Amino acid sequence: MHQTLNTTLLIIGGGPGGYVAAIRAGQLGIPTVLIEGQALGGTCLNIGCIPSKALIHVAEQFHQTHAHSQHSALGINVAPPTLDITQSVAWKDGIVDRLTSGVAALLKKHGVKVIHGWARIIDGKTVEVDGQDLRVQCEHLLLATGSSTVELPMLPLGGPIISSTEALAPTHLPKRLTVVGAGYIGLELGIAYRKLGVEVSVVEARERILPTYDSELTQPVAESLKKLGITLYLKHSVEGFDSTTQSLKVRDPAGEPLALTTDQVLVAVGRRPRTQGFNLEALDLKMNGSAIAIDAHCQTSMRNVWAIGDLSGEPMLAHRAMAQGEMVAELIAGKQRRFEPVAIAAVCFTDPELVVVGKTPENVQQEGLDCIVAQFPFAANGRAMTLESKSGFVRVVARRDNHLILGWQAVGVGVSELSTAFAQSLEMGACLEDVAGTIHAHPTLGEAVQEAALRALGHALHL
Ligand SMILES: Cc1cc2nc3c(=O)[nH]c(=O)nc-3n(C[C@H](O)[C@H](O)[C@H](O)COP(=O)(O)OP(=O)(O)OC[C@H]3O[C@@H](n4cnc5c(N)ncnc54)[C@H](O)[C@@H]3O)c2cc1C
Repeated sequence: MHQTLNTTLLIIGGGPGGYVAAIRAGQLGIPTVLIEGQALGGTCLNIGCIPSKALIHVAEQFHQTHAHSQHSALGINVAPPTLDITQSVAWKDGIVDRLTSGVAALLKKHGVKVIHGWARIIDGKTVEVDGQDLRVQCEHLLLATGSSTVELPMLPLGGPIISSTEALAPTHLPKRLTVVGAGYIGLELGIAYRKLGVEVSVVEARERILPTYDSELTQPVAESLKKLGITLYLKHSVEGFDSTTQSLKVRDPAGEPLALTTDQVLVAVGRRPRTQGFNLEALDLKMNGSAIAIDAHCQTSMRNVWAIGDLSGEPMLAHRAMAQGEMVAELIAGKQRRFEPVAIAAVCFTDPELVVVGKTPENVQQEGLDCIVAQFPFAANGRAMTLESKSGFVRVVARRDNHLILGWQAVGVGVSELSTAFAQSLEMGACLEDVAGTIHAHPTLGEAVQEAALRALGHALHL
């Protein structure tokens, strides 16, 4: 006999989508159960956003200290540093633990019942938990199972072939690492490993790094890879790994075979919605490619079955999952909501960082919109100079007729923090004059935002 638990809302998956939905539902007084098979916080807190940014920070500190030990224009003289990667990983794990226990505490505070175990769908209102004599019966089922790493058939994970998960918890550093895939995850980790002293190569099938962004924007990142000594193999396809010679077999653009000797291969070719292994088939939901199809309310094709986050496709970003989760809880509570953000910021924590929010010059051209595109270089920004960084720029895209801002892009040191101002200006329907007329604190990188707007109006002050 199964023990049955009744609830209003049942959430499968405790990543940023699921746990935020649960917290908001708890705040709104909705009886909520959340089932999580691994650790609360999901990919984001445990093996994604947070661990990667922690490792990037360690790498940057090590790299800077090393640079000062060689030659310091700043007048700092230090001995060459050494690295205790076990301690670095322990520090990163400490942050993850603090955040995941924080999530557990918030769920408890808001009265959410958390069940640790793997959920298995019976029907749209019934879920059982594997290995536990437990069934949960609900009015609303929220699917938030996230995504998993895309594997390449010729490079099965195991041994020297690793995914981002293993790369974020190294027990030792390899001498040489080859990254397959020059998207944001591959480059963030590739750059971090290089700064930690590893010889890094990147193999990419397309002709550019970060192929989803325009080449003007990615140029400063490409230059930085060169400066860091990362070898790029663009337009190269991967054929497999030869363990006897410890080499990655690739084909160059002319079709000639090439063997890249390496100790580890990091496969970073993307992520796919996690739709397998929990009997999702039982619901026969409408799909959108490999993702679950949802409408502007995150409703699936079955009434009272909702889907959010990576499971619902691109953009697979933690902040989108959280915003969807919050909205679904509010809809279930009877509030009027739609998921219609003007823009969702995408940030690459590469060196330099890159941000895209809203429409790009290419987008507006394709849509036939008459727009002004203007950019302001960090080479003319005092704060950037004090941060020893002059590469990159802020770019604005605005309608020519009424100056409504449609998009922002930036590349440069620390620009991830500008994503907030960019997203706010778009959501608030700001015009160029609004940003140009706002007094921006000096000296900040944000002044480049104001100057880009001024330049679009034809009168940048510091250029
Ligand atoms: C290396 C890396 C770096 C990243 N960096 C960033 C970044 O800087 N910024 C950003 O916005 N995004 C980043 N992401 C993406 C981000 O992690 C995801 O977009 C986000 O975690 C998606 O949230 P989610 O709630 O949809 O799913 P997930 O976080 O994947 O959570 C899903 C949860 O569901 C659980 N689950 C699945 N199936 C079941 C089941 N049957 N029963 C019980 N539990 C189940 C899983 O165990 C998991 O905990 C990164 C990802 C990676 C891999």
